[in-house]
Amino acid sequence: MASSAYIGRFAPSPTGPLHFGSLVCALASFLDARHHHGQWLVRIEDIDPPREIPGATHSILNQLESHGLHWDGELLYQSQRSHAYNEALEQLQQTGLLFSCDCNRQRIAELGGIYDGCCRTRQSVTDAALRLQVPDAQNGRIVFDDLIMGRYEQNLCCDVGDFVVKRRDGLISYQLAVTVDDQFQGISHIVRGADLLDSTPRQLYLQHCLSYHHSQSVTEAIHYAHLPLATNAEGQKLSKQNHAAALPSGSEVDSLWFALDWLRQAPPEDLRSESVATLLGWAIDNWVLGNIPAQMALPAGQDV
Ligand code: GLU
Repeated sequence: MASSAYIGRFAPSPTGPLHFGSLVCALASFLDARHHHGQWLVRIEDIDPPREIPGATHSILNQLESHGLHWDGELLYQSQRSHAYNEALEQLQQTGLLFSCDCNRQRIAELGGIYDGCCRTRQSVTDAALRLQVPDAQNGRIVFDDLIMGRYEQNLCCDVGDFVVKRRDGLISYQLAVTVDDQFQGISHIVRGADLLDSTPRQLYLQHCLSYHHSQSVTEAIHYAHLPLATNAEGQKLSKQNHAAALPSGSEVDSLWFALDWLRQAPPEDLRSESVATLLGWAIDNWVLGNIPAQMALPAGQDV
């Protein structure tokens, strides 16, 4: 039954080639899936064309393969999933919780980023974003147990506010697309970076609003594990903006070995002279998620 099977995923946005920070996410989600004899899917999150770099999808997929991270089944491209997102919007519309909002960025910034619900009762306007109303402070508390970070709690009302599910420019929000697709693909375990820890309550709330927990295919909620962010010497998250280097080709075993070391899996030194397949075989057998530090950030500690 799908509900008891492990299905994990890696869901890169094609904004550039993989660097050390994205390799640790890909590797940890892969190893956790394989260690549990599960499937590992790859989904290309290409729903934000202004942020995409031509050729990035191709580079990412080549890098995954050269690092021995072979996925199961077909790739899923979010750019081909508009019908599913529109259906979800329809469903949300029927709950009466969606409203259109034309507040500008400056106003939201003045509110400290936490929307105050001011457009909730307005007539629907054109040229507007769609927001999803969150429960009031008394009912807005969401708690879940992260497999790495432990108990995490957020009050959607006080910490987030009504959030955007469809942007003013017509693009679907990350929160909605990821929730719809994790359900569609039957994902049971999500292993990803801690920069998304504070997005998880919004995704849990969306799952609730879309009645996913009552559907027949998934009877259990998703398990989450948020990895520390790999940071550079200045303590910044490794990212394209911070000029994190793309993984060097020809050094796959070394990159994987450093990623395993960073994930506190204690790979034996002598595996550095072995093949990608041998190193990954060892890593699958010896994977211990619990060894990963429950820290929001962890220096990459090498020349990355
Ligand atoms: N596409 C997102 C990213 O590249 C990750 C989404 C997720 O894992 O939920 O940051």
